[in-house]
Amino acid sequence: MTGEMTAGLKTRTPAGALAPAIEFVEVSKVYDGKIAVARIDHSFDVGRVHALMGKNGSGKSTLVKILSGAVQPTLGHVKINGNRTELATPRDAFAAGIITVHQELSLVPSLSVAENIYLGRMPKKRFLGSSVVDWQGVNSRAAQLLREMGLDSDPRKPVSELSVGQQQIIEIAKAMSFEPKILLLDEPTSALASREVEQLFNLIRRLRERGVTMVYITHRMNELFEIADTCTVIRDGHYIGGVEMSETSPAQIIEMMFGAIAKAKRPPRKEIARSKPVLSVRDLSREGAFENISFDLYPGEILGFAGLLGSGRTEILKSIFGADPFDRGTIEFEGRAIASPTPRSMKRLGLGYTPENRKEAGLVQMLSSHDNLCLASLSRIASNGVITKPHEEPFVRQQITDLAIKVPDAMLPVSSLSGGNQQKIVIGNWLNTSPKVMFFDEPSRGVDVRARQQIFEIIWKQAAQGLACVFVSSELEELLEVADRIVILKGGRQVGTADPVTTDLTALYRLCMEGADH
Ligand code: ADP
Ligand code: MG
Repeated sequence: MTGEMTAGLKTRTPAGALAPAIEFVEVSKVYDGKIAVARIDHSFDVGRVHALMGKNGSGKSTLVKILSGAVQPTLGHVKINGNRTELATPRDAFAAGIITVHQELSLVPSLSVAENIYLGRMPKKRFLGSSVVDWQGVNSRAAQLLREMGLDSDPRKPVSELSVGQQQIIEIAKAMSFEPKILLLDEPTSALASREVEQLFNLIRRLRERGVTMVYITHRMNELFEIADTCTVIRDGHYIGGVEMSETSPAQIIEMMFGAIAKAKRPPRKEIARSKPVLSVRDLSREGAFENISFDLYPGEILGFAGLLGSGRTEILKSIFGADPFDRGTIEFEGRAIASPTPRSMKRLGLGYTPENRKEAGLVQMLSSHDNLCLASLSRIASNGVITKPHEEPFVRQQITDLAIKVPDAMLPVSSLSGGNQQKIVIGNWLNTSPKVMFFDEPSRGVDVRARQQIFEIIWKQAAQGLACVFVSSELEELLEVADRIVILKGGRQVGTADPVTTDLTALYRLCMEGADH
């Protein structure tokens, strides 16, 4: 789309000023008698990147769904480019030039990248008198789209072979192939590694140059200052404020989101007695995944794993935990050699693991909070092999209290809770096993700022009581804040270690990108 074309699409108000791209007029949404969005009266200017912030449940996704025609406002209406527009169905939104990238991925894993992008609108050609899919056309068009966006993905590759982050990028590429005038992004970066976030930001900048208006939901504060032009904060469905990014600070935005809250302070770092490791790993290798990984983990220590997506962090943890095999190397737990770990045997020894994808691996969504808090510790709670709810009750209560988990009713399915509370349940489930070592794989992914701070506090508190932790995060700031020592991984190899007290963010980022001494 050229500059002139986009300009031609803009309508002007009588005063000559550009009408806002999006205007919410007294919009409210009530679900089952509960207010999700309360009289929002706010507009978004054309051709800018508008961040929408708010803690979980504040109504962000509902606003996006109203714009994408998935949900109808109970009261009020929406104006697009100054004109009142009925967005009764996703088709209406599409016709108004509005494309949405939802939080959940919608690609079909078995299909190729190109097929996913052009699903339902494959270019056709005539062959022997009938209309057939023009495969060459599909692939070359997709290749061109990807090239234009500066991506080097192979359009013929099945989506199932891509990482979650790359899939997310393809999802966005697909949205862009519709040449939207308004692009809505609901937490697009929660699964992206730093480099992929950079790719996404480049795409967003390109679209901004073309005059596309974007509404961008994220939990990551640092991203706002890099990519957004404005930030709108809502809390409990109410509009709290809108600011220009150039005139605000993270502290101001956090205050708008939560009212004034203090950022959790890390307890002062204490000297860790590095005499007897609880976990010792030597030369652990798995063909194609990681090679010669060696480290010692001491009681009370928080060992950070830094690295970009694909650096092998999760694979290493899974192999030690016994969920995946390894080819070579040794693992010692409290001085005992573990030849072939299994999740069951490792759990019995005192190793807990909160996986990176809590929705799939960490929780049983259909089960209640109560049941999810007892999954890992059933054998410990059972008396004479019989488990009853009363036996479990104290364990459930303790975690709900200790971790300040907000559950209206512990018997309701865990799927009804916010991301932050679900993550605390995953952690509480493992703490109920009284572990000696915990692997926390991306514990802060997709949770809001306050819940993230609470999760760090839980980790610090457990470490202070002697728990040895491995902490994986794609956000390098978090590693510097949380860990006592950081192991840097790149392409499945250990390329260095960093002391968070003396390493700054740029240096750590460079180490992850380039490795040490290379
Ligand atoms: P956010 O995206 O900011 O986390 P949402 O827009 O998803 O917030 O939710 C706002 C409120 O509306 C929450 O209290 C949520 O529980 C409620 N809600 C969202 N979708 C539904 C629905 N389909 N049915 C009932 N309540 C819902
Ligand atoms: Mg949401």
